[in-house]
Amino acid sequence: MAIFSEHPTIAQLGEKEILDALKSISDPDRGKDIVSLGMVSGLQVKDGHVVFAIEVDAERGPALEPLRQTAEKTVHALPGVISATVVLTAERPPAPAGAPPPGAPHPGGAPHPGGAPRPADAPLMPGVKAIIAVASGKGGVGKSTTAVNLALALAADGHGVGILDADIFGPSIPRMLGIPGRPGSSDGTKLDPMENHGVKCMSMGFLVDEETPVVWRGPMVMSALEQMMRDVAWGELDVLVVDMPPGTGDAQLTMSQRVPLAGAVIVSTPQDIALADARKGLNMFRKVDVPVFGLIENMSYYVCPKCGERSEIFSHGGAKREAERLETDFLGEIPLDIAIRETSDSGRPIVIDQPDSPHAEAYRKIAEKIWERIEAGAEEGPKIVIQ
Ligand code: ADP
Repeated sequence: MAIFSEHPTIAQLGEKEILDALKSISDPDRGKDIVSLGMVSGLQVKDGHVVFAIEVDAERGPALEPLRQTAEKTVHALPGVISATVVLTAERPPAPAGAPPPGAPHPGGAPHPGGAPRPADAPLMPGVKAIIAVASGKGGVGKSTTAVNLALALAADGHGVGILDADIFGPSIPRMLGIPGRPGSSDGTKLDPMENHGVKCMSMGFLVDEETPVVWRGPMVMSALEQMMRDVAWGELDVLVVDMPPGTGDAQLTMSQRVPLAGAVIVSTPQDIALADARKGLNMFRKVDVPVFGLIENMSYYVCPKCGERSEIFSHGGAKREAERLETDFLGEIPLDIAIRETSDSGRPIVIDQPDSPHAEAYRKIAEKIWERIEAGAEEGPKIVIQ
């Protein structure tokens, strides 16, 4: 990503041109070109934005970074290419989750419990003061809805806010923020984040269609995420909210290890508290030394849109009890209300569309607690140092 042609208007670039160009690149170990070796997969071309993966054996991954860069540069040099995103992908993650490279630096400066070695102290996003993850044990619990409303609530409080849609399997933030189109580049080297309602945003959804099934595997998630941080002109931000992919598998664990997170919040519904999914999420972050700011119970209770009556349709209150048991904070509850769905579906989440509603107030209260935790953490020392 973020490698740009000076002539993006030169039209019609197809898969064939890209594959032809890639035939000039050889796998250094196997001596044949990467196309003939069947290493190029998931090629997508959309309005001058090119995305594909190079499949490699997991253990060769780190050594093939120069190959990835060459592929990216080669594709970018083609007329009509605005951006090229190339990632290395493998069947298995390159290292067992949690395996620490000795002495790898950590966001706070201490040795990090995991993650790949990188150039020491190179800031990934020098202007971003804090990164927080919004995570969930499984999909469909309202993680993205929560992330977007919290980002807007933080912005409404006067903070400089960005949101990074790392849920590359189902990127929904562009739709929720009402941002159509594709990112461009003003400096010719980095992608400009998209922006609406005062929040900057980058998402794989801008580069691939929402309907396109993304079949790329775990390691690609990490590469894509890294590029969305490193190769985007985020500028100065107080906080970057990362909407994580759902679940607590290897991809999520790798991501929590490698992104310099100031903290994480876990969204769950009353039902999945019972299923212990949230607990898994919490343990995942603890395992990699990321402070968990607390749990948010979404779809906590039902408010009748006609009479305003509140009903506890699920066994409401589970998150509060679970938070106590797990010795983490309970950050708040958000009701199940059709207005929350409709407003985010229409690109104007409830914090923007109905700022005086009790639901917007609930998001703002949670955002305040998160901000307090970020500030408390910031006093302990700098967080944004590459791992
Ligand atoms: P996830 O990111 O966990 O997959 P989403 O945020 O995409 O979940 O939410 C899934 C669906 O549930 C969306 O249609 C969303 O509008 C809806 N939704 C989320 N939270 C609420 C809520 N509190 N009340 C009503 N609908 C909600």
